[in-house]
Amino acid sequence: MKHYDIFSGCHAGRGDFHLHEDSASGLRAIVAVSNPDRGPALGGCRVVRYENTMDALMEASALAKTMQYKSAIHGLPFSGGKAVLLAPDIIVDRKAYFQAFGSFVESLSGRYITAMDSGVGKADMNAMAERTTYVTNFCKVGGAPSAYTAKGVSLGIQAVVRYHLNKTSMQGVEVLIQGIGKVGYELLRRMVALGADVIVSDVHEGIVQQCKREFGVRSVLPCDIYKTKCDVFAPCATGSVLNMKTLALFKAKIIAGAANNPLAHESQADVLHARQIIYVPDYVINAGGLIFSARQYLGSKCVPMDDKIENIFDLTLEILKQSDAHGLTILESG
Ligand code: NAD
Repeated sequence: MKHYDIFSGCHAGRGDFHLHEDSASGLRAIVAVSNPDRGPALGGCRVVRYENTMDALMEASALAKTMQYKSAIHGLPFSGGKAVLLAPDIIVDRKAYFQAFGSFVESLSGRYITAMDSGVGKADMNAMAERTTYVTNFCKVGGAPSAYTAKGVSLGIQAVVRYHLNKTSMQGVEVLIQGIGKVGYELLRRMVALGADVIVSDVHEGIVQQCKREFGVRSVLPCDIYKTKCDVFAPCATGSVLNMKTLALFKAKIIAGAANNPLAHESQADVLHARQIIYVPDYVINAGGLIFSARQYLGSKCVPMDDKIENIFDLTLEILKQSDAHGLTILESG
């Protein structure tokens, strides 16, 4: 059995865990809050299967830390928060399950504000909103964040292509998108509209075929993705996809996508730096959805959403310049 220390530091040394179980609905939930001094924690709620509870705790902790960076770098008045729901074999009554989670969020009295993430849909957000006011992304306040996340990722990709490939247009730039879900599909749409040469990959063959029919794009099988040559690899599926094994095969020049924590470990940033593969940090370019959610929660007077999302282009350029000027890995300069 792997040995873990739950205080081993993914939370950047400051933060808390909140755990809740509700046997009636099958809910087993973990909320992680990182650096609460900055304000309430805003971050998504995901439903994922884990091999064991410790893996779920570690992922919640690492994601809360990333959310803290994301809020800070984009000037949002929040600390980092993430909710991880350990998916049961079957959710018998989905509405009751997410209502129970809403009640748990309410019991935290605003220390954590919940939002949409992987495995959670609009109806689920609406069910949570029946039980808590500490919630965004439900229908009455404007819905899902994914289109805004994709907009920011698209701007980040355009910035890194300009800086490192010296191209002011995406025309003919090869972009490989891993995962054509809520964000990946919107990113695909934007990249095709900009004239990029897009390649898609997803574990669901039906989605891949639909994209090929709709946009005339190429595809690769998930097992061949890391050895596929391309200008930009855009991870938009799950985290931790870039590890020693996958990086050994890697052919892309640039990594820039939506997935949170795509590096299995931060030390992989050094490997990428040594191989001159440009990595644009997730928390810089995938923040469009968080900015949208913050605007939903605090209102447009407090969060100038369009300016902040448009700023992702300049922020990406600035971080790339800092990294070059000081010989730092991009994580060190971000
Ligand atoms: P999603 O669940 O809608 O889509 C994920 C897609 O990836 C699915 O189509 C799935 O079939 C596919 N997939 C899973 N494993 C794969 C693999 N190994 N190879 C290829 N495809 C695979 O999720 P989403 O909301 O689009 O989010 C995508 C990623 O971006 C997640 O890591 C999420 O945490 C992150 N993110 C999302 C948002 C948002 O606004 N939704 C914001 C910030 C970050």
